[in-house]
Amino acid sequence: MNGLRERLEQDVVLGAEGYLFELERRGYLKSGPYVPEVVLDFPDAVRELHREFLRAGAEVMVAFTYYGHREKLRMIGREQDLEPLNRQALRLAREVAAEGDALVAGNICNTWAYDPEAPQSSGEIVREMYREQVEWAVQEGADFIISETQDYVGEALIGVEVTRKLGLPTIVTFASTEARTIDGYEFDEACKRLEAAGADVVGLNCSRGPATMLPLIEKIRAAVACHVAAQPVPYRTTHDQPTFQTLRDDGGGRAFPIALDPFVHTRFELADFAAAARDAGVGYIGVCCGGAPHHVRAMAERLGRTVPASRYSPDLALHPILGGNIEESEKKYPSWKD
Ligand SMILES: [Zn+2]
Repeated sequence: MNGLRERLEQDVVLGAEGYLFELERRGYLKSGPYVPEVVLDFPDAVRELHREFLRAGAEVMVAFTYYGHREKLRMIGREQDLEPLNRQALRLAREVAAEGDALVAGNICNTWAYDPEAPQSSGEIVREMYREQVEWAVQEGADFIISETQDYVGEALIGVEVTRKLGLPTIVTFASTEARTIDGYEFDEACKRLEAAGADVVGLNCSRGPATMLPLIEKIRAAVACHVAAQPVPYRTTHDQPTFQTLRDDGGGRAFPIALDPFVHTRFELADFAAAARDAGVGYIGVCCGGAPHHVRAMAERLGRTVPASRYSPDLALHPILGGNIEESEKKYPSWKD
């Protein structure tokens, strides 16, 4: 089976994330702390969502260890579950990946432990958190590491260092809610630094929807020689509200994180994004918080692929009203008329 690097040389690699938001919606995960306890408490729910993304065309099963690090587990009083949670998440991803032709990604992320004012001492804490997670990923057979939702170049570089030392390819993506990383680098410059440090793929995930992520991605594409990743949130972010954290509802209330429903993109719009990203030279295309299997299937199909779930892709020609003579139908059912 081809690894990440080989696949990227051949074609776009389609990823899929959004485990956190989707499992929260399904009632298995608490919004706020957002710790993936579901991995231990309801492994079938995680297995099922992996399988849905796999059927929708995702080529990577991402072990659900986002926020499954020491800092977060300590916060909810489950630090003793840190290793079992990480190992279980990796095994679930691996088990479902084997049902298709998917790769397994270990996952590390922003730690909230990094302090740019004290990069050495806080960096040591981050290094140890990453080291234990990446070691478990290596032992459980992960093919590569996704280091994501990074806010600081300093912290992201530690992830690359640890992952390279342990011998796995790495995708590193920033998700700063600011116009640049919190430690002050434009995203293209930040990505250049990661590439120089040995990251295989660099780019952005989370925070921004397709409309506000793509322009930044194009700058990154122009700045680096390595592959680029883009995993936006599927929300209608705008120039004035460029991230999903800043989206406001009609009453001015903050929609993030649990009232974002009115802003969700349709599957067709995510498919448009997949095509635009491919045309912009993005090698790793996916979706982040809020993404669901129907988005991923539409993206896969727009990339010209037929996936297992394509068997049930829409066929509105078979709809009793929309599929027939619409004028006849509207006479019979006047409420369908515009
Ligand atoms: Zn996200």
